[in-house]
Amino acid sequence: TTTRCSVVVVGAGFSGLSAAKLLAENGVEDVVILEAADRIGGRVRKEEFGGVSVELGAGWISGVGGKQSNPVWELACQSNLRTCFSDYSNARYNIYDDSGKIFPSRIAADSYKKAVESAIRKLRHEESNHDADLSVLAETPSVPKTPIELAIDFILHDFEMAEVEPISTYVDFGEREFLVVDERGYECLLYKMAENFLFTSEGKILESRLKLNKVVRELQHSRNGVSVKTEDGCIYEANYVILSVSIGVLQSDLISFNPPLPKWKTEAIANCEIMVYTKVFLKFPRKFWPCGPEKEFFIYANERRGYYTFWQHMENAYPGSNILVVTLTNGESKRVEAQSDQQTMKEAMEVLRKMFGPDIPDAIDILVPRWWNNRFQRGSYSNYPIYINHPLIDDIKAPLGRIYFTGEHTNEKFNGYVHGAYLSGIETSKALLEEMRTEKEGIGENQAFL
Ligand code: FAD
Repeated sequence: TTTRCSVVVVGAGFSGLSAAKLLAENGVEDVVILEAADRIGGRVRKEEFGGVSVELGAGWISGVGGKQSNPVWELACQSNLRTCFSDYSNARYNIYDDSGKIFPSRIAADSYKKAVESAIRKLRHEESNHDADLSVLAETPSVPKTPIELAIDFILHDFEMAEVEPISTYVDFGEREFLVVDERGYECLLYKMAENFLFTSEGKILESRLKLNKVVRELQHSRNGVSVKTEDGCIYEANYVILSVSIGVLQSDLISFNPPLPKWKTEAIANCEIMVYTKVFLKFPRKFWPCGPEKEFFIYANERRGYYTFWQHMENAYPGSNILVVTLTNGESKRVEAQSDQQTMKEAMEVLRKMFGPDIPDAIDILVPRWWNNRFQRGSYSNYPIYINHPLIDDIKAPLGRIYFTGEHTNEKFNGYVHGAYLSGIETSKALLEEMRTEKEGIGENQAFL
């Protein structure tokens, strides 16, 4: 079957839906959203686990309390979203060694200070590689070796870069972070955002607009239009396409382009790094970890960097739920995704017994999200080099004729965040509306070079 419409939006995550909403609000009503999964939300996704609702993807609203207001926080306020204030910085005073002892706070603070200084030296070093005049001043950064150094290095680089260099999210929106702990899930913000254009007054999805289980496999594009083919053999003809799939999906061969993407585009896509970030949830019959103030986050220091290092208990979020979360990244995420959940539970229990002794009870349930192996994601979020090369992100987001690119990875300031995805959708639709206006008047800017 062939369907005609003016714009096809591929993907119903935060960016795709905010893009579609802006188009609808500006009179472009015949938008069709094609979503590969059987639900909306993409990397914002809740699941029932251990009797509560846990977030497998985005968990925090980052950037609250500053001069400007974070649009995602505004949605949260409108939806009366239940959240908990989080302060990761305490984690550094809850560092356990292999024998279950907590490092004295003075040693932890010293190691932390050294690690921050070393990270700053590393930044300077990298900066000097970009600027010949600075190279004489830069010292070679030291390499972390002991378990505590490795643990702090992991925390600093995989969670807290804000301590070392300014992050736009904190500078613009404020430094506070709130964990979403609402049974309706983080995704209820999407429903809030989309309520007026995607749902009927009874809360049912407008099926003429949103098609679930539609896996886009081919984009055929010319100066006249775009033809979108899905895995189930449907064809959607449109004047324009907004592609909101993740950078990981763009790097994979899920979607083919006909004619193929030019070299500048494929090279830019290949050069963007992808972080894999995995929250492993463990449910216990009872709690055996300290729960007082400033104990929410704790760290396991081991000679293997990133090996079950960063832990959080969910007692503040859901009292009595007896759930722990351990966060893995990159290599460890991929390793754990490839093995059985039983094996992961066994490894996690060995680590917990080192911290809390042999008598703690076994976990009774485990949940391991697999963002890396999910063919509609292929990773958790984009990670641009610190010395971001502007042409790289410019090339990633530059439209190609009638194909517009959006998603967290196209947002220069806030990539990697939910608000980055949300704002990118708005930015992309603004650019497309402008293009549609000029096309009406004569030749569109992006058509000119085709
Ligand atoms: P997505 O949400 O990925 O939307 C793209 C959509 O396209 C998906 O629904 C996908 O199914 C669909 N799709 C893919 N391929 C196809 C195809 N071929 N055809 C049709 N549809 C397709 N951000 C924060 O702000 N705070 C956090 O605490 C936080 N933690 C995170 C933790 C994890 C584990 C992860 C994975 C992400 C986290 N993020 C966090 C990042 C945040 O979730 C993302 O930046 C944001 O949700 C991305 O939205 P998006 O619209 O760009 O992409």
